[in-house]
Amino acid sequence: MEIFETLYKEFTGFFGYKQLLEIVKTQNYEALLTQKGIQAFLGPLIPLLLIIEVIRGLFYRRYSFPQYKISLFTYILNRFVSSFLSIAMVAFCIGFFEPYALFKTTFTWYWFVYGYVVWELSHFVYHYFGHKVRLFWCLHSTHHAPEYMNLSVTYAHFFLEAPYADIIRTTICILLGVNPPLLFLIMFIDGTWGAFIHVGENLLKDGRLGFMNKIILTPSHHRVHHARNPLYMDTNFCNLLNIWDKVFGTLQDEKRNVEIEYGISRPMKKGDFLDAYFGEIVSLGKDVYHAPGLKSKILYILMPPGWSHTGDHKTATIVKADYIKVHQQELSVETRH
Ligand SMILES: [Zn+2]
Ligand SMILES: [Zn+2]
Repeated sequence: MEIFETLYKEFTGFFGYKQLLEIVKTQNYEALLTQKGIQAFLGPLIPLLLIIEVIRGLFYRRYSFPQYKISLFTYILNRFVSSFLSIAMVAFCIGFFEPYALFKTTFTWYWFVYGYVVWELSHFVYHYFGHKVRLFWCLHSTHHAPEYMNLSVTYAHFFLEAPYADIIRTTICILLGVNPPLLFLIMFIDGTWGAFIHVGENLLKDGRLGFMNKIILTPSHHRVHHARNPLYMDTNFCNLLNIWDKVFGTLQDEKRNVEIEYGISRPMKKGDFLDAYFGEIVSLGKDVYHAPGLKSKILYILMPPGWSHTGDHKTATIVKADYIKVHQQELSVETRH
């Protein structure tokens, strides 16, 4: 019977509705306004939307298991290793770096705004290097492997990515004085929004969210981020506020005449979970092995994906510049609908 108990726990854990049920049972609705209440309310939202997305897909006969396979397997694997590692890393970074904080802030609304801006900066840093340093790309590329967009992609991550992300994000936030309880609240809101921006076309056809597209980072922006089109590669690194993409010039709107192609530029074995999970590591290993001399071996690890010791670089920046040169005219005409 233990197996049923474990499965039940996994089920409630995934949907995360336990706290909400508690609030409904005790009718203590005021609790919804507290930090715990907000978490209880937002927790079940993404899993629920994911189920609606799958059901809608089934109903319209657009659902096919391969679209979810890679994400599902990575979720199951990560469930056992990743979340534990990640929580331990956050706790460690807070304890270790708090004495060195430039200054300390408190749990107030204005420090919340400050904290959020700093959090987005730390997220930008982690995410930017996840794309621009080949070693970190090995950790991040699993998330970009799915060739479809739907809410399950939110769970597709290499198990070491969360600890890597959390070391960078937590350290920056703590050093810049973000109050730890505020940081947890921000992480939670960010996690929920970060999941929602993976909503697929099945559930939300136009991800621009109207005028919101001008103000925040929308599902449309994140779809662009997941695209392998030369114009879209390595853009939109932010999560909710897009200020840092604006500051660093990496903000890219979805163009009506450039249709998104999801996935990574390396040719992949279609729907192969192991290739999605370990493919980039294997490919980096091969490049390092065949590279002549220690210097080029190290450069393969540290330079952006696409760098080559032969000088024939295929990095996103170069591929994009070539593309823009050739397609200049088309790109200047944005078709209106
Ligand atoms: Zn990314
Ligand atoms: Zn994503």
